[in-house]
Amino acid sequence: MPSYYCKMLQTTLHFLPNAVKFCCSCAEGPGVKIKDYNNINKKEIEQTRLKFINALRNGEIPKECKGCFEYKQTEIPKKGFFESLFKKEEKFPVNYIIVDHYKQCDCSCVYCSQKILYGDNVTQYALLPLIKQLYANNMIDSYNLKVEFQGGNISCLNEFDSLLEEFKKNKCRNYAVLSNGIKYMPQLENMDSNSFICISLDCGTRETFNKIKNVDGFDSTIENIKRLRENSNICIALKYIVINGINDNMDEVNAFLNIAKDLVKNGSVIFDIDYRDTILNINPDFKVPSHYNEIFKYAEEYCKQNNIPFTAPVFTKNILEQPVNK
Ligand code: SF4
Ligand code: SF4
Repeated sequence: MPSYYCKMLQTTLHFLPNAVKFCCSCAEGPGVKIKDYNNINKKEIEQTRLKFINALRNGEIPKECKGCFEYKQTEIPKKGFFESLFKKEEKFPVNYIIVDHYKQCDCSCVYCSQKILYGDNVTQYALLPLIKQLYANNMIDSYNLKVEFQGGNISCLNEFDSLLEEFKKNKCRNYAVLSNGIKYMPQLENMDSNSFICISLDCGTRETFNKIKNVDGFDSTIENIKRLRENSNICIALKYIVINGINDNMDEVNAFLNIAKDLVKNGSVIFDIDYRDTILNINPDFKVPSHYNEIFKYAEEYCKQNNIPFTAPVFTKNILEQPVNK
């Protein structure tokens, strides 16, 4: 019988508005519901995580992991072989924390998953006390920790500075920031070159920016990226989410790529598909329009010719390979 393994499952804590999950997968993803917003339930987190690890080891794909591309078949001995040999408790220290428990933002993107998933039904809770408890309970592998700020837009979270201070105090040096870039974040100027920011620009013109994000922030975003590029060592990636009927045309793609050519720094151009058509799966009959493949191919070729790394998520690549709408 095959045995499976998922690295994210073993090492991740993903703080959402109502749950702590063990990955950032586009599948449902295993985790625990938050019942007490003031306390980390160490026992429940560790026992639940182990239950899923053991299910995969025993060849079962839990319903929360169905459709995910992260688990791998493994020949490694099943059932925590070495630990069971010495009757030792298995430890899974956290080395990947995703801060994604809030939805404060200064724009209103048409594809915003926070709005769609949670609406106004979000408990506002402070994450800092829970992070302090993780450290106090020795649940974090401080030396290897990576922290990813999702959201919401992290520049709008009042707790951002104190969270950053806590992680820095505990020697974390590896950060990933996902942002719309509308507001300048001086906090990023002191981050190392192994940290990165990904800005979802999604366009190359002010008019399209306004249509997607419903706020007039194109010029300030471009200025902020330029400023960050000059004043920091952080890697800068720019993202383009292809949205049907809004930015799925070559003029817009070209305008974006021309901007990206100058602004990407030790990062990449990332192309993706509107989450409402994929992860959020609002329309289960969605088939990729045929011109999406042309857009992705064109962007990849442009990047190749201009020596810019090009990436698209594995999930998206798989979708692009499926039958298309003519
Ligand atoms: S297999 Fe996928 S859904 Fe399951 S824990 Fe791993 S990343 Fe998450
Ligand atoms: S920037 Fe992010 S959180 Fe804000 S509206 Fe857009 S998708 Fe939603």
